[in-house]
Amino acid sequence: MIHYNSGTGALENWLVSEASFDVRFQGKCETIFCQGNGYMGIRCATEETYIGQVRNTFVAGTFNKFDEYDVTELPNAADLTALEISIDGDLFSLEKGTFSDYHRTLNLQNGEVVREFTWMNNAGKAFAFTFKKFISFSNLHEISFSLSIKALHESASISIQSGINGQFSNSGAQHFHEGEKRIYDKKYVQMLQTTTQSKVTFIHNTVHDLKVNDDATRISSRFAMDRRKVFMIYSAKLEAGETVYLDKTSNIFTTRDQDVAGQSTDNLKAFSVEALKQSHQKTYDQRLAESAAAWAKRWEVVDVLIDAESSFDQLAIRFAQYHLLVMTPAHDNRYGIGAKGLSGEGYKGHSFWDTEIFMLPFFTYSLPEVAKSLLEYRYNTLEGAHKKALENGFKGAMYPWESAWMDDGEVTPIWGAADILTGESTKIWSGFIEQHITSDVAFAIWQYYMVTNDEDFMERAGYEMLLDTGIFWGSRLEWNDEKQQYHINNVVGPDEYKEHVNNDAFTNYTAHWCIENAIAYYYKLKENKPQVFARLNQKLHLDSEIKELEGKITQVYLPQSRPDLVIPQDDTYLLKQTIDLSNYKNQEHVGSIFLDYSLSQVNQLQVSKQASIVMLMYLLEHKFSKDVKVANYHYYEAKTLHDSSLSLSTHAILASDIDDTDLSYALFSKAAEIDLTQNMKSSDHGIHSAALGGVWQTVVFGFGGVRMVGGQLRVNPKLPKTYKKLQFNIHWHGNRLRFTITPQKLSVQNLNQLSTVSLEIFDRSYSFTDALEVDFEF
Ligand code: BGC
Ligand code: BGC
Repeated sequence: MIHYNSGTGALENWLVSEASFDVRFQGKCETIFCQGNGYMGIRCATEETYIGQVRNTFVAGTFNKFDEYDVTELPNAADLTALEISIDGDLFSLEKGTFSDYHRTLNLQNGEVVREFTWMNNAGKAFAFTFKKFISFSNLHEISFSLSIKALHESASISIQSGINGQFSNSGAQHFHEGEKRIYDKKYVQMLQTTTQSKVTFIHNTVHDLKVNDDATRISSRFAMDRRKVFMIYSAKLEAGETVYLDKTSNIFTTRDQDVAGQSTDNLKAFSVEALKQSHQKTYDQRLAESAAAWAKRWEVVDVLIDAESSFDQLAIRFAQYHLLVMTPAHDNRYGIGAKGLSGEGYKGHSFWDTEIFMLPFFTYSLPEVAKSLLEYRYNTLEGAHKKALENGFKGAMYPWESAWMDDGEVTPIWGAADILTGESTKIWSGFIEQHITSDVAFAIWQYYMVTNDEDFMERAGYEMLLDTGIFWGSRLEWNDEKQQYHINNVVGPDEYKEHVNNDAFTNYTAHWCIENAIAYYYKLKENKPQVFARLNQKLHLDSEIKELEGKITQVYLPQSRPDLVIPQDDTYLLKQTIDLSNYKNQEHVGSIFLDYSLSQVNQLQVSKQASIVMLMYLLEHKFSKDVKVANYHYYEAKTLHDSSLSLSTHAILASDIDDTDLSYALFSKAAEIDLTQNMKSSDHGIHSAALGGVWQTVVFGFGGVRMVGGQLRVNPKLPKTYKKLQFNIHWHGNRLRFTITPQKLSVQNLNQLSTVSLEIFDRSYSFTDALEVDFEF
């Protein structure tokens, strides 16, 4: 059972709590309490181990390829968090004896997880346990842990084994060589491990402080090594009422880290121990205060306030933002965000369109410097995008469906789940033919540019990507002689339940948009930025390439609406059979249709995995009239199973755009519960990052009504009926705008007053520099 309202006072709507422990449901809190700082992420496994537990430590960007049959993935690094606690010679476990007053709580405000309970062993002795841990938000390498065990009524002897354990793998794939282990000064424990193929060396260090009450001399210690493991064993005797305290400080560095670039591994060994000693001079609480101060700075910029009937919404948006912040490698533009962040093995740490279309808007509008870094990652991966285009016989930048290290190119695995008819693995076509990712990247660059006006980024990287992606699409078009049109055949669109389709509307429209945009920027650069133009012209042969695009653009086929205004999702979708989907739409677990149909059968039905046409009408909203949106929304919502967690938020926003605020709110509530649900099995493989980005978008773009349309800011709020007030901050052209919206009024404060801001609110234009108030006349 998860509690959402355990926070009171200053912590109201900041705490998520697990109210009891059940070994069957460990995956839930391991994922939703995952801690991190973008450099690293650690799944919140309990310190003592249980069957079914998944311990994961990931450092962003440290990809390794296990062998030639596997794709590159984020390796599961050595663990610094497990403990073996023995009491009177018996290994402590909640599965033995009895426990009470249990709670494990994630504090979203400062990133700390606290677990407390009273435990009685089989001999009837009672102990009060408190575990605390956080990953520093101010020092990217540092991990802090503290434990106290109080012998409540009887004496007991306690032993604690703790250290560095590299005996972990990624579901069996071992990514590391055995490495050096050492204990300095009988105290500072170090272990090195190098990835087998990419040769990234991880250096782990840890140090412990123990005492009984105030007395460190009552602890005896020794150390030991094993294969891939180095650890300390501490023991002490507690009298009734006494407490043993453990403070464990650890750090991780890797030879890929930019902040220690150029250091030899030997230097880094010494350097990292030195860093550990420095951290170790401070107490757990001092380190926590430093980290909390860094969190507070972030929250000040990004916090969204929701005053509504249900306080769950306030918690849900903070939960979404917390995870978006802990998963994002804001410190290094060579890394993207994984589809499961750093919270689990799911999707192997790879980046998808999830970043550009779902997570990035939060950063673009709230923390533009982070959005820039993520877009620079796409610039840094151009080599892989060129490689993919060439391998497929195309020109320009063809972004991989799944992306990992900079020059990897395509890393989508080829074989997936079992087919219920044949019992064989199903082939995953996305890596071959899910090509809209290239438009998604271009869209995000353009959105970032329009919101920030960041000319510097555009000149260094943005224009080039906009042009290069346009060139790709030009080369991807196929001439259909009969129709005298350019088609895009044999793709998977965003709806992955339709494979090998021709003219997927999302793909065609966004490819057309990409080409259109490339042509427009060609002329803008030529006219206004001759130097940038000359450089890019030479690099990309713009004069001839753009001429080719101009020759093609007017003949690109854009699927048009039928008399009932429904736009065909692809050439054959509307000809396919419809079936009663009610069972699958009311399913407890996603993908239930595959219990009855194989993927190739689902391909032949009018059933969609996720938003596709609806997504198109959200992204390119100016291209479709409201009537068309209404017709398509209703047609496709009825056929969409929301089997991808990405889907609900898009439908929620479009529902809001077509003024169905109740439906929008209902879909939002479901989206907000994807990870924060009482369904305890839904998060096992990791957090649903894109869904969390979607939660932010639904609040700010859906309910708040914020949108960038054609480069202009438009704000048409559509508050749910139960909302009394919504407040959020966004950046617009360098101005920091604080919007406060009530059912009666919209007010904006320009917090830094950099320039005059123009915006449109319900079809009226406004300009202001410091503040604006608009009363709604409903
Ligand atoms: C997803 C694809 C992905 C594949 C392999 C599937 O479940 O739907 O988008 O490429 O897994 O990661
Ligand atoms: C979805 C994709 C998504 C991927 C990674 C799949 O299930 O269909 O749209 O990119 O998961 O989250």
